Amino acid sequence: MTDSPLSPRPVVFSDDVLEHLPTHLRTNMCGELRPEHVGRTVSVCGWVSSRRVHSEHLAFVDLRDYTGLVQCVVDGAADLRSEYVVRVTGTVVAREEQWINPKLATGEVELADCTVEVLSVAEPPPFQLDERHETDETIRLRYRYLDLRRAQMQRNLRTRATINSAIRRAMESQGFLEVETPMLIASTPEGARDFVVPSRLKPGSFYALPQSPQLFKQLCMVGGIDRYFQIARCLRDEDLRADRQFEFMQLDAEMSFASQDDVLSAISTTVAAVVEAVTGETIGEIPRMTWMEAAERFGSDKPDVRFGLELIELTDVFTATEFNAFKAPCIKGIRVPGGAEFTRSRLDELTDRAKRWGAKGLVWMRVKPADAGSVELDSPVAKFLSDDEKAALVAATEAVDGDLLLLVADERPKVRHVLGLLRLDIGRPPVNEGGLNFLWVVDFPLFESVDEATGRPVSAHHPFTMPHEDDFGLLDGSPEDLLGVRSQAYDLVLNGWELGSGSVRIHRADIQQRVFELLGISKEEAQLKFGFLLDAFRFGPPPHAGFAFGIDRLVALLVGEENIREVIAFPKTQSGADPLTQAPTDIDPAQLAELGLRLLPRAAD
Ligand code: ASP
Repeated sequence: MTDSPLSPRPVVFSDDVLEHLPTHLRTNMCGELRPEHVGRTVSVCGWVSSRRVHSEHLAFVDLRDYTGLVQCVVDGAADLRSEYVVRVTGTVVAREEQWINPKLATGEVELADCTVEVLSVAEPPPFQLDERHETDETIRLRYRYLDLRRAQMQRNLRTRATINSAIRRAMESQGFLEVETPMLIASTPEGARDFVVPSRLKPGSFYALPQSPQLFKQLCMVGGIDRYFQIARCLRDEDLRADRQFEFMQLDAEMSFASQDDVLSAISTTVAAVVEAVTGETIGEIPRMTWMEAAERFGSDKPDVRFGLELIELTDVFTATEFNAFKAPCIKGIRVPGGAEFTRSRLDELTDRAKRWGAKGLVWMRVKPADAGSVELDSPVAKFLSDDEKAALVAATEAVDGDLLLLVADERPKVRHVLGLLRLDIGRPPVNEGGLNFLWVVDFPLFESVDEATGRPVSAHHPFTMPHEDDFGLLDGSPEDLLGVRSQAYDLVLNGWELGSGSVRIHRADIQQRVFELLGISKEEAQLKFGFLLDAFRFGPPPHAGFAFGIDRLVALLVGEENIREVIAFPKTQSGADPLTQAPTDIDPAQLAELGLRLLPRAAD
C-alpha cells in the first residue's frame, strides 16, 4: 500500500514524443522551452491564454498548448484576444533574474522578437478557462471542448490514456489476448436495466447494448482463446451518481484453467503496473479480507480501511439485559475517539440518519471521567443498564474519557448496514487522502438474500458464479443454509470504492442447472436467455474464471477526483443528458415508422 497523498506525476512529455511533435507550422511545443533553447528561433502554435498590454509596442502574451504555457513578447498593437489561435515565431531568450517565474515550467525563458500569425479567431469564451470552480458544471459540459483546454482536464485525460496503455501492456505481457466483442447483442445477466436498440430488419425486435461482455468472454474460453481481455464499453440504464454513468469502461478479463488465486494475481499485477505508471509508487501485495470479516468489522462489502471506527461486537454483553431496546439478535457499536464533544444537535442528526437507514434507533453514550481513574457513561439510556453491563461495555469497546459510543440493536444485517454507513458519515477522509488502500474482498455469499414473496434466493453476483466447493452440500438445504453458501466471487476495493468484481465460473452443467433451479430460472427461461452459452458448454468448456474493473473509477481515484465525470471526455449529467449534443433527442417520425415503432403520448403532453 502507499501512504503518501495521491499524487499523480505531472504528465511527462518524453523527448521521444517531443521529437515527433513538430509540424509544418511549429518547430516546438509551448511547454517545452527551457534555458537550453536560448538563442534558437522557434515557431510555436496554440491558444492565447492571456494578454497584458504594456504600451503601444509591448505586450506579453501567454501562449498555451497541451504541454504548457510560454510567454511571448509581442507588438502591443497586435489584435490578439483570449483563445485566438496563433502561430508565434520568435527567439528564445533568458528572462532577467527578477522576471523568472518559478511557478511556470518555461518560467526562465520567453520568446522575443515575435512575429504573430492569427490562424483562427475566437469569440470570448463563456467562462474563464482557468477558474473551474466558479463555473457551473452544466456550462462546462455544454462547452466541453473549451473545458477540455483547461490544464486539469488535460491532465486527467492524459493520465487516463497512460492508465489504458499500462493496462494493455500489463495484460499482454501476461499472455492475455485483446478481443473485441459486439455492441448489439441479446441481453446480458448483470442485473441492471438494458439499453435497447430497435431492429429495422426485424421490426418489433430489439438488440440490447452490453451491460458487460460477460457471456462473450465465456464463449471465448470455450473457443480456446485461453486468456481474453478487453478495455470494454459497458452500458447500464441505472440512475446516475458521482461514481456512475450510463456508459463506462471496464478492464474485462477471463482466464482458462484458472483459479481465484490465478485471477487475483494477474489483476493485482496489472493494477500495480497502473499505479506505478501514474504515481511511480509500488503498491506491494494487495491484502485480502473475507466478505464476512468486512461485513462484521466495517459493515460493508467495500470497506474503506483508511480509518478506524470499526464495528465492535457487543451482543454477548447484553444477553441478559432488562433494557427492551437491547433485546435483539445482534448489538454492535462504534467508539468515536473525542466524540463526547459532539453537540446534542449533531447526535440528534446522527440518530435521524440511523433511522433513515433502517435502524429502530441509535443509542449514544458519552464517556466521562469518574472516580478513581475509571469512566462513567453519560446517556439517556444509562439508567436502564446494570453496572455489570456498563463495565463490560467499557471493557469491550476499550472506551476512554472523551469517547462517544454509538450502538445499534437489531437483526445482524441491519446492524452492520446502519453502523457501516454511520462509520463513513463520521470518519471518512476525502478521496485523495491516506494513500491508496487496495483490498481484495473474497468469499462473497452466493446469494445476497431470500426473496420473501417467492422464497427464492437472489443471486449476489451473476448466475454463472461457482459456489465454494466446501459449500456444495448446502445447495440442497434450507433458506438459512442457502444464505450461508459462499461463492468463489471476489471484489477489488480501493479506498472504499468498489473497483470491480469477478468470479470462478460454473462450467459443469449439473451445478449450473441446480443454481438456475434455486434462482427460479426455469429450463425454458435459461434456454431462452442464455441458451447459446449453455449450448456452447455442451462442447467442452474449460474451467475458467474472470474479473472486470471500472477504469473510470480507478482513474478518478488516481487523479484525486471525487466525480468520475472529471475523467471522462464527454460525460452525461446526473439526469442522463448531454448538454453539448442535447442527447437524448426526439427522432424523426420517418425513422420511427421504419423501425415499426409508434410513441405513446408523453406523461406531460
Ligand atoms: N461481468 C462482471 C461485471 O461486469 C464481471 C465479471 O464477473 O467478470 O461486473
